[in-house]
Amino acid sequence: ARASIGLTGLAVMGSNLARNIARNGYTIAVHNRTTSKMTDMVEAYADEAREAGGELVGRESLEDFVAAIERPRTVVVMVKAGSPTDAVIDELAPLLEEGDIVVDAGNAHVDDTMRRQAALKEQGLHFVGMGVSGGEEGALNGPSIMVGGSEHAYENLGPIVEKIAAQVDGTPCATHVGPDGAGHFVKMVHNGIEYADMQLIAESYDLLRALTDRTPAQLAEAFSDWNGGDLESFLIEMTADVLAHTDQATGTAFVDVVEDAAEQKGTGRWTVQTALDLGVPVTGIAEATFARSLSGHTDQRAAARERFGSAVHDVEVDVEQFTDDVRSALFASKVVAYAQGFDQILAASAENDWDVDPGTIATIWRGGCIIRAQFLDRIREAYEAEPGLKSLLLAPYFADAVEAGAAAWRRVVATAATAGVPVPAFSSSLSYFDALRRDRLPAALIQGLRDDFGAHTYRRVDKEGSFHTLWAGDRSEVEA
Ligand code: NDP
Repeated sequence: ARASIGLTGLAVMGSNLARNIARNGYTIAVHNRTTSKMTDMVEAYADEAREAGGELVGRESLEDFVAAIERPRTVVVMVKAGSPTDAVIDELAPLLEEGDIVVDAGNAHVDDTMRRQAALKEQGLHFVGMGVSGGEEGALNGPSIMVGGSEHAYENLGPIVEKIAAQVDGTPCATHVGPDGAGHFVKMVHNGIEYADMQLIAESYDLLRALTDRTPAQLAEAFSDWNGGDLESFLIEMTADVLAHTDQATGTAFVDVVEDAAEQKGTGRWTVQTALDLGVPVTGIAEATFARSLSGHTDQRAAARERFGSAVHDVEVDVEQFTDDVRSALFASKVVAYAQGFDQILAASAENDWDVDPGTIATIWRGGCIIRAQFLDRIREAYEAEPGLKSLLLAPYFADAVEAGAAAWRRVVATAATAGVPVPAFSSSLSYFDALRRDRLPAALIQGLRDDFGAHTYRRVDKEGSFHTLWAGDRSEVEA
């Protein structure tokens, strides 16, 4: 039988995704540059596929692989991001025919996706940028899938991805996000939000550890408690798991034997870079990305420690009250990070005519992906109730929660500053909230300075038009 779909690139993600497709009863052609990986994989999982009514069809050459797939062909490429993806597409494209669909399921930068889409369109091929979240486990058992591409491509790919995705309340965590780069863009922002989420959790842990004199195992209990409330999420659950873990070699808390220099693969950085271009403040994601960079500057950190000392200043806190305050600060800051991420998606959608529906994005992030959380149901409801919402912060549920937690949020940021514990994401999120609701911002002074040194002009509160003051002359105002 001809395969319904093909997949090339059988490293951990590709092989798990292919197994997932076969386990859902599909016949899938599989291929890998290094053939042994393909033959090993088919040997190991052919039975599993057959039992589910599916089949893994292994092919050694790319030509035979392409020939095994039903037309119009849907070919998923899941190889190393960047130039390897281009190399595989270049090899694949000449073997395909008009109407065939090439799906890049790797983590690609949206600019690369737009470029590849335009190039393949000239050859009569459809290109899909497909964001897959959920790591290895998700790929195998049900990821969250964000598809960007043509209607034709989704007609063919959609039924399969909706079947293999995680399901929440009977709804698949997969959707046609929009054309060309929309899927990869939304996946990128998902990862950016994941950076912010993790940074906020890390700041919570750091504060509680520094100021409430508890062991990581004891703090694991606090996070487990939080997981029973409105913070319920995969990342909070995993935080409890990691904090409770003891290093087997030394018998000490695992978190204390890990080097405190965070690494990154680039999606957080891309999120911030594209946000700067779009002019959307994503302070939570930016602070999270910079915090990872800072942690890696170990020489600078050592020099600063030597010069200034590393002691945390003694601050008396009521353990129960402070723990609850940190929980409130975490929730409010998290709302800010998500509000900013959704703003970025909507800004890109408007700029590129993607027509992305934010409620649908929240819906497909409820399961399968790393940021899956109860919280996303509230976001879905917020956008359903008010599609033109100006900010997620203004949705009644979130507005009430942030307002109720604002005093605690301020206490936490003030306490952190007094103690000398860094909370870049907490404090910048609070500043973002305060800036949004301030009646007059000092931007007026900035406009005045710009006009004074560079004649950049300014607008007035009391009449239309642009104006310039003759600063070096008689200081009269002229219309620009
Ligand atoms: P890797 O990113 O390590 O890629 C390895 C695969 O790429 C192998 O199949 C390898 O073939 C193939 N490959 C590399 N270079 C070439 C080339 N020049 N020509 C042909 N094939 C090549 O694998 P992962 O499974 O970790 O990730 C796959 C994709 O999924 C990446 O784009 C990644 O960004 C994305 N992703 C990964 C996630 C994760 O949690 N790991 C989560 C979500 C997305 P060979 O066996 O011959 O070396």
